[in-house]
Amino acid sequence: MESNKTIVPLPCTSALHPLKRKIPYGWDLNLYRGCAHDCIYCYARHQHPHSETHDFETIYAKTNLAEVLDRELRRPGWKREIINIGGVTDSYQPAEAELKLMPEVLRVLIRHKTPAIISTKSTLVLRDIELIDRLSHLTYINVAASVVTRDESIRKFIEPGASGADKLFEALHEFRKTNASVGLHAMPIIPFLTDSYETIETLCAGARAAGVHYMLPGVMYLRGNTRKTVFDFFRRTFPDRFEALQACYKKGGADKNYKDQLYQQVVNPLRKKYDLSGDYSRIIREKMHKPDPTLF
Ligand code: SF4
Repeated sequence: MESNKTIVPLPCTSALHPLKRKIPYGWDLNLYRGCAHDCIYCYARHQHPHSETHDFETIYAKTNLAEVLDRELRRPGWKREIINIGGVTDSYQPAEAELKLMPEVLRVLIRHKTPAIISTKSTLVLRDIELIDRLSHLTYINVAASVVTRDESIRKFIEPGASGADKLFEALHEFRKTNASVGLHAMPIIPFLTDSYETIETLCAGARAAGVHYMLPGVMYLRGNTRKTVFDFFRRTFPDRFEALQACYKKGGADKNYKDQLYQQVVNPLRKKYDLSGDYSRIIREKMHKPDPTLF
């Protein structure tokens, strides 16, 4: 998808950022600051240190990232822990189509046989399927699509720059032909907008048809200023649902009773019906310890 954002190169001095919680991954790697997918619930927008307006109008690209990463992975102490790629901003946002930072990052991971997790809302990830396939025969690599709804009339309001769900399911189906592990991140489930049985059932059906290894659901969390952005959006676009949403979010997380009911009545029965595992760690254990010997 085209984007009208300004792209500014921002060379970095470090690539990997350690995470406090080491499971399932210990490191974060982000190629961009800012994201042109413009999801209304995005908390990264409000962490953007270079934008006073927090509108992601400028996207900063770490153009030397692969070189810096290569240096860091060469260190003798590197233990080949799993790297989470794009934990803050999407690595396959529109700028990536031109800048092509990810292929270089993947080549570095291949060189150092380093496992990784990629989560994206863009089918641009398909461009790199050969490199991901190669890495998948050396170590664990996970490709997950983050999908909110298959209803395009809603999706276009809430994540206008992302790919549509059906295209993302097709992409997951393609990745299933590689040795990569493949997942659906049904996130975020937005209360009173994308939380109906029918909406989540269409996601589960898509995940089953794509043959994913696991499905992870997650209810929207409203961190910091994201709360105001989402509340304003509901007031403007779905005013009839605003009060219910407001009542559900007294804090950053959704009301506990709401979540319990959602899981008991919708998420868990559907996971069972479509035989969708929530266990992503089994495949990590399998693939981390069983590289394909034919490629060494
Ligand atoms: S894809 Fe992720 S980083 Fe990009 S706007 Fe959406 S939530 Fe934010």
